[in-house]
Parts: sequence; C-alpha cells; structure tokens
Amino acid sequence: MEALYKEVLREARKAVSLDKAGRSKEAVEHYMRAASLLVELSKMTPEPRLRRIYAEKAETYITRCEQIREGLGATEALEAISAPEEVLKELPPELAGAVLIERPETTWDDVGGLSTAKELLKEAVVWPLLRPELFKGPREPWKGILLFGPPGCGKTLLARAVAGQCKATFFNVSAAAIMSKWLGESEKNVRLLFEAARKAAPSVIFIDEVDSLLSTRAADEIGGERRVKTQFLVELDGLRSKPGENVVVIGATNRPWDLDPAMVRRFERRIFVPLPDREAREEIFRIHLRGVELDPDVDVGELAELTVGYTGSDIRLLCREAAMEPIRELMGEGLPEGDVGPRPVSKTDFVKALRRIKPVVKPSDVRRYLEWAKRYGEI
Ligand code: ATP
Repeated sequence: MEALYKEVLREARKAVSLDKAGRSKEAVEHYMRAASLLVELSKMTPEPRLRRIYAEKAETYITRCEQIREGLGATEALEAISAPEEVLKELPPELAGAVLIERPETTWDDVGGLSTAKELLKEAVVWPLLRPELFKGPREPWKGILLFGPPGCGKTLLARAVAGQCKATFFNVSAAAIMSKWLGESEKNVRLLFEAARKAAPSVIFIDEVDSLLSTRAADEIGGERRVKTQFLVELDGLRSKPGENVVVIGATNRPWDLDPAMVRRFERRIFVPLPDREAREEIFRIHLRGVELDPDVDVGELAELTVGYTGSDIRLLCREAAMEPIRELMGEGLPEGDVGPRPVSKTDFVKALRRIKPVVKPSDVRRYLEWAKRYGEI
C-alpha cells in the first residue's frame, strides 16, 4: 500500500508541475492517473476515514481536469492543489498513509450554525495564526483545541474552515491509522509529524478520533501506545513553550469521556459541537442545496422543522437523496437525448428521502455530551 501511495504522490507532483508550467493538457493524464490510483488505494484501506479522505482528494484532481477541459488556466484552484504537494516533498515517507496534507478552501459560510464554536475558533486560532505578533505575553495563543460532540455535526468541517481562513497547511491525521501503522516507530513518527508542521507553518494539525490515540485505557496499553501518547504530550508542551511557532493542534472526538485526563488538560480550549438547532438546520439545508433547482413547493424552513435530531451529515445525505430523485426519473427512461435536463427537486422528493434517512444520534447520547460539556467544555 505504501508503494501505491508513493506512486500517487509521484503522479500528482508531475501533474502539478506540468500544470504550473502551462502544459495543462499534458497534466490531465497525470491527474487522472493519480485520481484512479487514489480510488484503488481507498478500496484497499480498511479505515473508513482514510477511505473518505482519499476519495475526496481524487475528486479534487478530477475537478481540476474538468477545469482544464473547459479551458481554465492555472487558477487559484490550482494553488489549492499544488501547495500541499510542495509540502509533501518535505513530508517524511514514514508518514505516508496516516497523514494527508491539504490546503482547504473551506470558508465559514460552508459551516451552518455553530456560531459560538466559530467565534471561539476565530479568537483562539485564526487571529493568532494570521497576526502572531499581536498574540504575545498575556495574549499568548492556545496551542491545543479539542472539538467534541456527536458524529457528523461539523468538527472536521470547522477545522478545515480554520485552515482555509488562515491559508494554513492542514495536516489531516488519522489517529486510528497511526495506532495501527506506526506501532514500533510511533514516537519517532509523531516527532516527524510536528517537525513537518513547523516547517510548513502556519499549520493546523487536525487529529480526528483523538480518543483512539489518547484514551484512558492505560491498563491495556502496550509499550508502543504509551510511547505515542507520551511523545504527543511532549510535542504539545513544546508548542506551548514556543508560542511563535505558528502550529496549532485541533483534536476531534465523539467520545470525550474516554480521553486521558492529562490529555484533556493539554487541550486548553474544549469546544462543544452540538446537534444543529432549527435555525442551524435551515442554514445547513441552504448550504447543501446550493446550485440545486427547487420547485416552489419546497419550504426550507419547514424541512428544518421536520428534521429535529438530524446531524449536518444526515441533512447532507437527505439533500443528496432528494436531489437524486429527478435524475433517477430522467435516466430511468433511458439516456435522454440532447440537453434534456432533470425537473426541479420537489417537496415529494424530500418526503421520500425523509422516509429513507433517519437520524443516527440518540437522545441519550446527547445528554452524555452535555454533561461532559458542563464539566470540561465551553458551550
Ligand atoms: P465525525 O466525528 O464522524 O468525523 P464530524 O463532526 O467531524 O464527524 P464532519 O466530517 O465535519 O463531521 O461532517 C460530515 C459532513 O456533514 C461534512 O462534510 C458536511 O458536508 C456535513 N456537515 C456536518 N455538519 C455541518 C454543518 N454544521 N454545516 C454544513 N455541513 C455540515
């Protein structure tokens, strides 16, 4: 798998350098090859989060090819693809497969609701990364932020928006992959990760499922796991003692109660990312229906009322499901000739989708998050 990953990097770098040199037509072949290798890689990867990351990355390469075909030159979109590839040259090969580097273009407008979390993140991370000279002495910035809350409510999205706002390099780290891949050499790799982030600063190191790396299950820990944890604590303390380094760690977890207390202390700001309320759900619907033609009988406010308990991720699925109905109808009658398009998405499509897609988070889970938030977090 490592060989395949290296092949992806080779193809992607080749594509980007050709694209930058104005030889975009030649670049297409390499983008497509990188994309198809990524799809292959995602099929072989047992870990769902990594699979998703690889698929998303493949999508960015395919999008760039479409832009080239439409005659678009090396635009800002290319910046987003190419910049991380340059950083990748610095990334030690040992980190391949567990760390993905991105330069996200996500903005705050892509995140529905979560106004408190956004404000806290602006103050704690975005401003200090943009204007480090203002954040000295008593205004020293926070180096460890924990986002906690039910799955699918926007933790990853928020971290991406932070990196997007600061034009920071985004190190997307899969904690589960670290634990399965790196045992033995784990602490060295944690050190290399922080070194690479310092070199590429400003950087955001985002660690999803941080509980699998830093849990309290001390009794079960084998040597390797304990060493990863210790090295991680050392690195985080190192960042705090050198505030000018412009590297921030954002951890995310659905199981904050499993975190080691020493770790909870290191994440100085702990931000609750809750289920969306009515107003937030309406915003999320609007985000995921951008560019979709809607029938006048669709009332987004009503959809928000009907989706109590749905996460942002559930709403995204719902929109996708409803938006697919007119396409199914169109294609069901055989491939249409000419430029016959689908009809607008109607209320009935949403009603059907609502029957299929049900909320995944249980009310009892929500209570548990709130209790933890009251004790340790900021709501
Ligand atoms: P997990 O803990 O499972 O990793 P998460 O909290 O990190 O979940 P995300 O990965 O950010 O959740 O959300 C999954 C997808 O759901 C996002 O890519 C986005 O499309 C959609 N989504 C979730 N929350 C929101 C939101 N607040 N606004 C807009 N879209 C959202």
